[in-house]
Amino acid sequence: MNSSPDVLIVGSGMGGATLAAGLAGSGARVVILERGEQLPDAPSARDTRAIFMEGCYRPKETWLDGKGEAFNPGNYYYLGGNSKFYGAVMLRYREKDFEPLDHAEGATLGWPIAYAELEPWYGAAERLFQVRGAVGDDPTEPPHSTPYPHQPVLDEAPIARVRERLRAIGLHPFSLPLAVDIERWLARGRTPWDAYPDTRSGKLDAETASLSKALSDPSITVRTRTRVLRLITAPDGSRIDGVEVEENGKRSVLRAGLVVLAAGAVNSAALLLASGSLQNPAGLANRSGVVGRYFMNHNSSAMLVVDPRLRNSSVYQKTLGINDFYFSDGAGGPPLGNVQLLGKVTGPILKANMRRVPMLVLSALAAYSFDWYLMSEDLPHPDSRVRLDGGRIVLEWHRSNMRGHARLVEVMRERFRAAGFPIVLSRAFDRRTPSHQCGTVRFGRDPASSALDVFCRAHDHPNLYVVDASFLPTSAAVNPALTIAAMALRVADHIRREHLHVISAAEAKA
Ligand SMILES: Cc1cc2nc3c(=O)[nH]c(=O)nc-3n(C[C@H](O)[C@H](O)[C@H](O)COP(=O)(O)OP(=O)(O)OC[C@H]3O[C@@H](n4cnc5c(N)ncnc54)[C@H](O)[C@@H]3O)c2cc1C
Repeated sequence: MNSSPDVLIVGSGMGGATLAAGLAGSGARVVILERGEQLPDAPSARDTRAIFMEGCYRPKETWLDGKGEAFNPGNYYYLGGNSKFYGAVMLRYREKDFEPLDHAEGATLGWPIAYAELEPWYGAAERLFQVRGAVGDDPTEPPHSTPYPHQPVLDEAPIARVRERLRAIGLHPFSLPLAVDIERWLARGRTPWDAYPDTRSGKLDAETASLSKALSDPSITVRTRTRVLRLITAPDGSRIDGVEVEENGKRSVLRAGLVVLAAGAVNSAALLLASGSLQNPAGLANRSGVVGRYFMNHNSSAMLVVDPRLRNSSVYQKTLGINDFYFSDGAGGPPLGNVQLLGKVTGPILKANMRRVPMLVLSALAAYSFDWYLMSEDLPHPDSRVRLDGGRIVLEWHRSNMRGHARLVEVMRERFRAAGFPIVLSRAFDRRTPSHQCGTVRFGRDPASSALDVFCRAHDHPNLYVVDASFLPTSAAVNPALTIAAMALRVADHIRREHLHVISAAEAKA
């Protein structure tokens, strides 16, 4: 019997684990290769100082920026990938995000598929991640053919008051769709969840939702602490033969009929670039030269708003979003972006970014602040890129559309003041935080300008798929995880039909 699996998946994050969940029950032998290990449960998992001030979960690696300066990226390597730390906001891209859009400083070309094509998979992903949400309050909400599986997470009392104040000034605050079982999360510790690691205690993430479904099928297995070093092609340079891995300090080659790369937008591009050969001198899947290019990551700022008469006693806070300025500044101007609450900011979290200010002052500020995340679309640009310097990752992030983001900050400052928050402080997130990295192995219809076809299969390699944030041709201005998961389920369905010849019971009956 051939001991090679049918499918090798590189990475157990949002793309890889969700694709594996989509293959469960197909009969295929699937092996997931994960560089990290399972997050152990430990007191540090809910220790704000350990997480934010000591950075105890951050990777030990450094990347170089465009100027050659080393930085430690907030990019996490664990079973479940970055989703272990995510804020669990599961927003769909808006319908118009799939179409060409003009922005303050440029335009996007739209997607090679329409929203309607992904819509059923959005619903499937919402069910897999048991998303809590409500359709109706958000004026930009795209059509849903299926309801959210659960009611939204309730606002804590101070947040309910903020919702009322925002409504009173004519805004349309909506309940953020969240993949979190709030009772379970709080039972483990009364902390927020955004940027806190999930030790299987209430977040629905790539490990607890997707991987647990995948592993319910005995023909799907996962190997942790197994780092893929490069992909290996057959002598013709076209088919992928397998991957070279390092496991417990030893190198070996694993082979499979199909390889799915899902190492995250930066690492997937780096792996393709590192796997060049005589036949593929510019790296794999890269005849077009786009691999590593069009890196995007959202332009984002934190905004703390304070009304000294309103104490913010909430524990988790992250239940409200605002999309009133998503497609326009409200005065006929260009799209500005999304606004959503962050996990509750505390003294130690502020201290991690403002080392010189006394903790007492910061804790006093945090006791009254309502903490928002302002996010604007980062536009695709060929010079915004991931490349390799020797074996080292270089991330040259060219910021785009900052005028649009500055306008969002300005508009929200005015609105929060109008809503009774006289103190408004804001600060942009910097390049050390590639939380919403995407775009480096873009999909499209034209092999001259994209690396992947519309099912995320490499134009150049018939048995290679790339199914993580790298396929995204635009960043939109919403969090990416649900869109990555929806696409992973769509691609899994495609793989079942095209490569495994599995059809559903309903289809068999018909
Ligand atoms: C603090 C934080 C908050 C966030 N909040 C939200 C949110 O609220 N909503 C939202 O939509 N998104 C959020 N995100 C972003 C979201 O987590 C990512 O968009 C998503 O996880 C990306 O999925 P992915 O499959 O591309 O990569 P990942 O989920 O990162 O998975 C990549 C996997 O590949 C593994 N890997 C990498 N290289 C190799 C290799 N060489 N060999 C083997 N394995 C490898 C990694 O260890 C990892 O497990 C947040 C991210 C962070 C960091």
